[in-house]
Amino acid sequence: AGFTVAIVGRPNVGKSTFFNRLLEQRKAIVDDQSGVTRDRQYGVCEWNGKTFNVIDTGGFVPQSEDVFEREIKKQVLIAVEEANAIIFMADAATGITDLDEAMADVLRRTSKTVFMAVNKVDNPERLLEATEFYSLGFDNIFFISSMTGSGTGEILDAVTELI
Ligand code: GDP
Ligand code: MG
Repeated sequence: AGFTVAIVGRPNVGKSTFFNRLLEQRKAIVDDQSGVTRDRQYGVCEWNGKTFNVIDTGGFVPQSEDVFEREIKKQVLIAVEEANAIIFMADAATGITDLDEAMADVLRRTSKTVFMAVNKVDNPERLLEATEFYSLGFDNIFFISSMTGSGTGEILDAVTELI
């Protein structure tokens, strides 16, 4: 029971790094290799005196590009089912990819609140480049760095406003 937020996004965008920051202790596995978080991780976050559940959706090791995309879409739909709100994470360092577009297509159709988190905005130059993510069409967009913690408070403020 309680309010649940799922973090979704293609592999390597920094979902687990963000998740660990929310939990303020290392729970999920962060790795430079894509698709390393195999299972879903569940945690509880406290912010602004409110408590909510967080799901770090993981990955799965791709066999082929096709299977990869299908499986990721499936994971997104499962997360949407389970959650009250979604944090859709992307990576400012790589920019928009086909998989981001595919996931955005799925997420635009949900009635649940989607917060777009453009991660790896570690410096002002990145912020400039990251504005391309507005084109995915999400109104609730946050530019964050899970590494430095920049912007992570703002997204949590927005999440807790729903509770
Ligand atoms: P996941 O596959 O989406 O769970 O991504 P991870 O959390 O495992 O992170 C993938 C890689 O991105 C790791 O090398 C992280 O250290 C790195 N990373 C995560 N967040 C940031 C960030 O804000 N800035 C930068 N520069 N790297 C990050
Ligand atoms: Mg992960």
